[in-house]
Amino acid sequence: MVIVMSTSATEAEIQGVVSKIEECRFQVHRSTGVTRTVLGAIGKTDDFDLRRIEILPGVESVTRIGEPFKLASRSFHKDDTVIELGGVRIGGDSIVVMAGPCAVESRDQIRQIAAIVAEAGARVLRGGAFKPRSSPYSFQGLGLEGLKYLREAGDAEGLLVVTEVMEASQIEPILEYADILQVGARNMQNFSLLRRLGEVRKPILLKRGISATIEEWLMSAEYIMAGGNYQVILCERGIRTFERLTRNTLDISAIPVVKKLSHLPIIVDPSHAVGIRDKVIPVARAAVAVGSDGLLVEVHTDPEKALSDGPQSLYPEGFRLLMDSVRRIAPVVGKRLT
Ligand code: PEP
Ligand code: MN
Repeated sequence: MVIVMSTSATEAEIQGVVSKIEECRFQVHRSTGVTRTVLGAIGKTDDFDLRRIEILPGVESVTRIGEPFKLASRSFHKDDTVIELGGVRIGGDSIVVMAGPCAVESRDQIRQIAAIVAEAGARVLRGGAFKPRSSPYSFQGLGLEGLKYLREAGDAEGLLVVTEVMEASQIEPILEYADILQVGARNMQNFSLLRRLGEVRKPILLKRGISATIEEWLMSAEYIMAGGNYQVILCERGIRTFERLTRNTLDISAIPVVKKLSHLPIIVDPSHAVGIRDKVIPVARAAVAVGSDGLLVEVHTDPEKALSDGPQSLYPEGFRLLMDSVRRIAPVVGKRLT
């Protein structure tokens, strides 16, 4: 970490900071400039509380050098992590498309949508069985019954399936039916859930929280990885900003930022990011162009009657158009559909 002393710091204050840093088992390097002194503290800072130095008299600022996350960091693992699952490659030079309805609504609904998205080139079927709705009066999902329908539809079309886990008690039933477990934006910092998912040996799709910084998001990935589950797929799904004309604001720059900091695959959910059907395709194109390792897209055969997120769900023809764009943009960024 680097400690910048204020211009008015006295020699006694500087010495006070030096002793404190040494006491905390750091090596100190002092650099005295014309107007101020800067101290470099060498040592392991990942779990060091910077405030212990910040509160000392004469200190202007303390900055951590290096990342607080380790297993998720690119300095720990240089090459891209590629998750291989039933012939589907997630990460590296592949683009994976996960598509389906927001929620599994009936056996017929999910079977029909699965056939459409598979035919268009998706490799993973999405569909919520346990839904985290903003209102307790909204449709909460079909639960276990929904999981069964999702699995059946995936199997019928040769698709992997991804579904959301909202709490630890759902892990076991979901593991029985799903290939990938999704942690929703609202649960990104549910650390006890993340810890439990660290014990799981199936990939976890970790959505970014609506107000989470990239560092907080990577720390959540670290929680899962610290438990021994290295198969984490990040998903940027828009963050909350002052803008009201879209449901959220897609943080498109998060993709190159994460790619530099981490080796984990990162995909984009344009549906929840914009929340309006006619914006989904253009934003999905941008996601592929910026280097996303895939897309998570909501598709419905009858969005007007959908039990959740109909207004942001693509019609089948919209989804086919999107897939066509993905196929054409992917080679420009050196990638191809898995
Ligand atoms: C979803 O994918 O259906 C969902 C609820 O997403 P998020 O957690 O990003 O809101
Ligand atoms: Mn949804």
